[in-house]
Amino acid sequence: MARQVKKIICIVCPRGCEITVEIEDGEIKSIKGYTCPLGKKYAEKEVVNPERILMSVVKCINGDLPVVSVKTSKPIPLSMMKKASKALSDVSVEAPVKIGDKIIDNLLDLGVEVVATRPCNEERRAE
Ligand code: SF4
Repeated sequence: MARQVKKIICIVCPRGCEITVEIEDGEIKSIKGYTCPLGKKYAEKEVVNPERILMSVVKCINGDLPVVSVKTSKPIPLSMMKKASKALSDVSVEAPVKIGDKIIDNLLDLGVEVVATRPCNEERRAE
């Protein structure tokens, strides 16, 4: 019988409750330490299928900066982070780019958009 205890800090709100999840043979046996149902839900997800927002950059063509910073519109599975980062390394956009511009519609079929978090203006050329 494989027993495991995981300590998780809930990041849903600033209170930061410390939650303890007891897992036995891959199944959640108990969850303790949460103050509200959101924390319980967060802890379950964190143990079964943790997710994070991916922040990265993509190339900006003819921009005043070589890259523009981007993020996913929703969290994606941690297990997909590496693949998603690699996919973004092949992406380039043409300046100008505004904050909130959609860079990718559906990243790796995960149902999330990738949006710009910084502007990238057109490069000024000497006349
Ligand atoms: S368990 Fe509830 S109160 Fe505690 S940090 Fe999470 S969301 Fe906030």
